[in-house]
Amino acid sequence: MKRIYLDYAATTPTHPEVMKAMLPYFSEAFGNPSSIYSYGQEAKGAIEEARVKVAGLIGARNEEIVFTSGGTETDNFAIKGVAYANESKGNHIITSSIEHHAVIETCKFLGRRGFRITYLLVDEYGLIDPEDVKRAITNKTILISVMHANNEMGTIEPIAEIGKIAKEAGICFHTDAVQTMGHIPVDVNELGVDLLSMSAHKLYGPKGIGALYIRKGTKLSPFMHGGEQERRRRASTENIPGIVGFGKAVELAQQEISQEVEQLAHLHDQLVKGLLERIEHTRLNGHPIMRLPSNVNISVDFVEGESMLLNLDLEGICASTGSACSSSSLEPSYVLLAMGLSHEQAHGSLRFSLGKWSTEEEIRRVLEVLPRIVAKLRAMSPLLKSPR
Ligand code: PLP
Repeated sequence: MKRIYLDYAATTPTHPEVMKAMLPYFSEAFGNPSSIYSYGQEAKGAIEEARVKVAGLIGARNEEIVFTSGGTETDNFAIKGVAYANESKGNHIITSSIEHHAVIETCKFLGRRGFRITYLLVDEYGLIDPEDVKRAITNKTILISVMHANNEMGTIEPIAEIGKIAKEAGICFHTDAVQTMGHIPVDVNELGVDLLSMSAHKLYGPKGIGALYIRKGTKLSPFMHGGEQERRRRASTENIPGIVGFGKAVELAQQEISQEVEQLAHLHDQLVKGLLERIEHTRLNGHPIMRLPSNVNISVDFVEGESMLLNLDLEGICASTGSACSSSSLEPSYVLLAMGLSHEQAHGSLRFSLGKWSTEEEIRRVLEVLPRIVAKLRAMSPLLKSPR
């Protein structure tokens, strides 16, 4: 059976061109960039080439990019880095209740160590109101961290508006752009951010490599202590194949971004329309317009997301109930609960995330298979009290 992969928000397959670009850096060009001889300098050159590409995609200067091991480290670096560097100024951090675990858990950690954290609420579409950000600011606020787009239900947040508020108040502003970089336009100046998190494996790059954009002048404590790599901002010998792969993935994204947005928007609309038409008592989660074209998150009443997922898997279709980190947990999604969904609705949620290699044929197959699965599950569902 040919498998259908519709979980691109969890991770993307590495692009063949990316793998090709990485390969020489495992073998003939294996040097340590800190070495002064030619092997080292070759590796150093490759890092700088990738840095130019990453900076170029988001409108940053080359020296404002620091390579890390992925989105999680980057979020930790940004938040703890600002918190520790500004302890004498204040101890208040503003974030939202729908951030990725990498942000939420970092904030909880700081909360247990004397920082005060405000978790902003969202509306029924998962949108943060910039006025709520303004109201939450105190003279102790040192950081605002709001994600660019949510990984579970795809809502794109009003980052540029929040950026203006942060700038007026003179507060450092971080956004987690792991789900948007390479997929929709991301420009650090248009968004008005001081820090921005990225991860290569969400844009057809390899796993275990990411980057933090640090606006020039931003006060940030290093997260990793050791050598002098990355201009003393991130110690440890650089992951050269990873960095080269990230650079190549960014180069490809830059060439293909507008075409991909159009193609995904078309498939997205087809899938949403088909699901809502064919399965009664189903709703689309997230904002109807301000959303990632790749994300289709639905709640199906009277069935469990996990049961749908397992049945889809038996048919060769790979989807998710939310974030990759929580798909093994039976707790309902905190993101959907924050949007006001009931526990039952949150438990009945399913996320399809589309990507570069998604096709109309795959969408047709989902539309043929899922209504059948839902009908079967509903027929034996204790949740279905009064079928209509
Ligand atoms: N932030 C967001 C919004 C994500 O979706 C993810 C991954 O799912 C991460 C951070 C963590 O990235 P990584 O897997 O590279 O650590």
